[in-house]
Amino acid sequence: MVSKLAAQGISDAQVLAAMGHVERHRFVDTALVNQAYEDTSLPIGLGQTISKPNVVARMLELLRQGAGSPAGKLGRVLEIGTGCGYQAALLGQLASEVYSIERLRGLHDKARENLRAFRLANVHLLFGDGMVGYARGAPYAAIIAAAGGEAIPPAWIEQLAVGGRLVAPMHVAGGAQALVVLDRTPQGVTQTVLEAVHFVPLKSGTS
Ligand code: SAH
Repeated sequence: MVSKLAAQGISDAQVLAAMGHVERHRFVDTALVNQAYEDTSLPIGLGQTISKPNVVARMLELLRQGAGSPAGKLGRVLEIGTGCGYQAALLGQLASEVYSIERLRGLHDKARENLRAFRLANVHLLFGDGMVGYARGAPYAAIIAAAGGEAIPPAWIEQLAVGGRLVAPMHVAGGAQALVVLDRTPQGVTQTVLEAVHFVPLKSGTS
C-alpha cells in the first residue's frame, strides 16, 4: 500500500512511514480484511466509511505542509469524525496531541476499542458534536475533518492557531464536494479549493 501511495505522488516521508506503521486491517470488519490494503473506501458501520488510503495520505500531507508544521511533528491537532479511529492513529504518529471527536456513540466506542492495542497516550477520543470544535484543546496547529458540510463551521476557524492549517471536504457550487485548505495567517484567512472528493455528510448533534 505504501509503495502504491508513493507511486501515486505522496512524497512526505513521515506520512508514508505512519501509513506503513498503522495497519489498516485492524480497523475494518473481519469480512473486509482482505480489502484493507486496496485503494478503496470501506464501510465501518452506521452508514459511515473509512476513506481511501490515498485520500487520507493526501490530507495528512496537506496538513503537514502548513506553516504550523515547520520540520518535525505537528503540534495539537483536532480531528472531526473519528469513525473507526484509523486516521486518529495516523495523526497520533504525526502530532504531539490529537483530539478526535465523533458524533455517533457506536463509532466512538468502536474507535476506542480499535485504538486500545496501539497505546497512543497522545490521542484523546471525544464523544460530541464536532461542529462546535473542542475549545478546551484550542488553539490547534491543524484541524482535519472527515465529513463535509455546506461551509466550514466558524468554531473551527476560531480554534485554529495563527499559522495553523485546516483541511476539510466542503460542498462547492453545483452540489459537488471538494477538498478545501484554509490557512489562518496574521493577515487573515486564505482558502484554497482543491480536487473533488466524496465524504459522508457533516451532521450536527449526537446520536
Ligand atoms: N477518519 C475516520 C473517517 C470516518 S467517516 C476514520 O479514519 O475512520 C466520518 C465520520 O464523521 C463519521 O463517523 C461521522 O459520524 C462523523 N461525523 C459527521 N459529522 C460529525 C460531527 N458534527 N461531529 C463529529 N463527527 C461527525
